[in-house]
Amino acid sequence: MTRKERCTAILGILKQNNPNPETELHYTQPYELLVAVILSAQCTDKRVNLVTPNFFKKFPTVNVLQKGSFEEVFELIRSISFPNNKAKHLLGMAEKVVNDFAGEIPNELEDLVKLPGVGRKTANVILSVIYGQAALAVDTHVFRVSQRMGIAKGNTPLQIESQLMKVIPTEEVADSHHLLILHGRYVCTARSPKCYDCKVAHLCKWEGRKRNGFE
Ligand code: SF4
Repeated sequence: MTRKERCTAILGILKQNNPNPETELHYTQPYELLVAVILSAQCTDKRVNLVTPNFFKKFPTVNVLQKGSFEEVFELIRSISFPNNKAKHLLGMAEKVVNDFAGEIPNELEDLVKLPGVGRKTANVILSVIYGQAALAVDTHVFRVSQRMGIAKGNTPLQIESQLMKVIPTEEVADSHHLLILHGRYVCTARSPKCYDCKVAHLCKWEGRKRNGFE
């Protein structure tokens, strides 16, 4: 079986078990998803979802956020990791979106990564979820799971992204991102992967899976 065939088989099984995979961050418009993804860096989606309802009540649009103060933003996100930096990033992002992009969240990678707090991973989430582009965000889960399964190898997220893009059909990229994240979050967890309960264990290349209960 080639790497591409194994990848297709793995994603097919994951999709059978989750036909409509989507982000667990709550949002109703591009601006809200961008805020939520910036807040989610090194923080759980669950915690972000606890904070964003009040945040969006106070700052319902990017134009309103642009006029906000550091203290107001910090107060609303103080329970999130790195609130200091993230408050600065959110205000900087709003400033740039309003001044350079007429208040619209950009739809190109080169423009998105110019926004404070937005790296390649965040930009790819926006491109894929909001604009339906074939962009694959490699976060910590995608990075770990792809290597364990043996469907991509590399030392950096960019290397993993380019390898995955070669073996995943364009029309499957967006769903694959969510499927791999959810598999990493709930089954192939960082410390103790549940190989005994993993639907793709027979296709996985991780040597430790037998120790973890895969027969
Ligand atoms: S068998 Fe174990 S290591 Fe492999 S994908 Fe499943 S949970 Fe992850």
